[in-house]
Amino acid sequence: MPRPRKIRRVSKPPICSRFKPVGIPARLLERIDLSVDEYEALRLADYEGFEHKEAAEKMGISRPTFTRLIDQARKKIASGIIEGKEISIEGGDFQFIQHVVRCRSCGSLSNYSQHAPEKCPECNEENLENLNQYYQRGRGRGRGGWGHGR
Ligand SMILES: [Zn+2]
Repeated sequence: MPRPRKIRRVSKPPICSRFKPVGIPARLLERIDLSVDEYEALRLADYEGFEHKEAAEKMGISRPTFTRLIDQARKKIASGIIEGKEISIEGGDFQFIQHVVRCRSCGSLSNYSQHAPEKCPECNEENLENLNQYYQRGRGRGRGGWGHGR
């Protein structure tokens, strides 16, 4: 019996959404889609080293759900590496907790829980890019009312 899927909390967007193998012609390249919530499971468990229980709490999901998510994520990453496929991070039922803004001038990344500044805190340029926008398809909150225009 299918239950409604809960929106999963993801702390912030990945800094890169696509990974391509070198040396495989584009026409032969197959793609694997890793959802943003699978990415977050991988980040929490394998990168940050959280126990599944703790990681599940951070994402607002049950431990069995987290375990399923991390298993899927690992299988996808493994087959991407073993089979030489492109990995694309996109989609999923999630909501970001923070915004990440990249400065196009100096490359610095900054995290914000509320409002992003108009100018880069490092170089003071106004050439900022909100990374959240690239993943905000489907559900979750819409435009946050800031960060567009400048
Ligand atoms: Zn800058």
